[in-house]
Amino acid sequence: MAVIKVTRVLIPPRKLIVITAPSGAGKSSIVKKLLQQQPELSFSISCTTREKRPGETDGVHYYFMTVEEFKKKIAANEFAEYEEVYPNRFYGTLRSEMERVWRERKVVLFDIDVKGAVNLKKEFGEDCLTIFISPPSKESLINRLKNRGTEDTKSLKERIKRSEQELEFADKFDKIVLNKDFDTAYMRVKNLVISYLKPKTEHIL
Ligand code: 5GP
Repeated sequence: MAVIKVTRVLIPPRKLIVITAPSGAGKSSIVKKLLQQQPELSFSISCTTREKRPGETDGVHYYFMTVEEFKKKIAANEFAEYEEVYPNRFYGTLRSEMERVWRERKVVLFDIDVKGAVNLKKEFGEDCLTIFISPPSKESLINRLKNRGTEDTKSLKERIKRSEQELEFADKFDKIVLNKDFDTAYMRVKNLVISYLKPKTEHIL
């Protein structure tokens, strides 16, 4: 009698890919390119209370809101995670935003700070891949922040201080990718994502 081998492909349910890094390590450029090249990924649009920068659109880059509106959402338990990343500047991920992406049968891609990334990993465990983008050195991080030109002097100082603290978090994540050269770092991240999302097969017979 012939033996039939049945293979059931398990579609990954409700997965998360979290790209995190100190501010200025280049994670947003990596996230942007991943979104262009990997149609199975969809960006988690965060809420924030910071000012909109030129070129940013509400509902595309962030959901911009007041501190009062943000605090109401905290009280209503609407966030999967949130942080006061800088004094009075809150950032957070709405559970409804993740549900929106999963309804489209896509994988949620995050660009968030290190503490938010640690919190998502704690909640979602194996369904969550966390990748830390590491700058080649502290000096390169400071230079990138300065050259970006998006911050005033006070805000720049806050960002530099915080970025230095964030570097200490590197070993808390599943993978660390050194961003010395953008193309190399991008390819490494892309390959990590592809291999994490590869459908697992289960041999039943
Ligand atoms: P920026 O003001 O430069 O857009 O973002 C500042 C920092 O906040 C970045 O490290 C960014 O990744 C992080 N961030 C953006 N959205 C979220 C979020 O929803 N939660 C957390 N914890 N951090 C976020």
